Amino acid sequence: MPQAQNEDRKKTPKDFYFMKIIGEGSFSTVFHAAEVENKKEYAIKVLRKRHIIRENKMEYVNREKKSLLSLGGSEAASRFFVHLYATFQDADNLYFVLTYARNGDLLDHLLRHKTFNIKWVVFYAAELLLALEFMKSKKIIHRDLKPENILFDKNWHILITDFGSSKIIGESDVIKKGDDTKSRRRRNSFVGTAQYVSPEVLHGEETTYASDLWAYGCVIYQMISGQAPFRAATEYSIFQKITNLDFTFSENFNLSAKDLIEKLIVTVPENRLGALDSSNYDSIREHVLFEETNWDDLGPAPVLSED
Ligand code: ATP
Repeated sequence: MPQAQNEDRKKTPKDFYFMKIIGEGSFSTVFHAAEVENKKEYAIKVLRKRHIIRENKMEYVNREKKSLLSLGGSEAASRFFVHLYATFQDADNLYFVLTYARNGDLLDHLLRHKTFNIKWVVFYAAELLLALEFMKSKKIIHRDLKPENILFDKNWHILITDFGSSKIIGESDVIKKGDDTKSRRRRNSFVGTAQYVSPEVLHGEETTYASDLWAYGCVIYQMISGQAPFRAATEYSIFQKITNLDFTFSENFNLSAKDLIEKLIVTVPENRLGALDSSNYDSIREHVLFEETNWDDLGPAPVLSED
């Protein structure tokens, strides 16, 4: 059947109109694009092969691809992630065809609004929690959760992106029987972004799902105060503050949110709220901040472009 053959055919850059550049990464350019055949819109990330090889970033690219594919199912919570629809390559570039996040990222909207009202905070904290639960069910730790990596779709729902630093539990740390455990186990080198990195990642200790719970606490803090909890002029000073748990709340900080954040931004990973939950993060769902949240239907998202 000609149509089925057409669908199975590997796409090429000629199948898309590349309309405009919407962003630049350290070794990629992201275009707003549309498929020639049906005008469907996408974001296409074009990764320069030479640059990736020169910078030794193949693992980063592979991880991003694997995690995105694993999160792209038909389950309800997969809607909170940028989907990877197709990949192809030519002599110079790799191409990732992604969900187009029409409404920018959380950092931009936070900078514009300065702070979010508590209703918006609760809504997005709830969507993020459902997303974190889904990642956990797929055995994925994001490791670089931050406002720039939380994009918005056309209806203002979150689309989590940037899985280059992610870790899939059970992969690449398989220790074969008889191997010397110490020499085989790779120390976790620092991944992520200084302001949101958890102490265990900072100190090269094992990363668990709880590392994302730390970042989750930081993002909730930032939605309320407009700034990340750990701030300083240099990375070194930020790391010192993280290690010393040196952060404060303003006097008028919402008390329920403060309580949740204090239970998430906790040095020992196992002591973070939710860290010991077996599947869903029930202990976070039950927190007073979410007392009015209907977990089966969070309702419509706020429109952040309105004041
Ligand atoms: P780096 O690679 O240096 O960590 P990055 O992760 O931001 O940077 P990209 O993933 O290439 O790099 O994204 C570059 C920019 O393109 C982003 O900051 C964002 O503004 C935009 N962008 C990325 N993905 C999408 C998307 N799916 N929809 C809309 N815009 C996107």
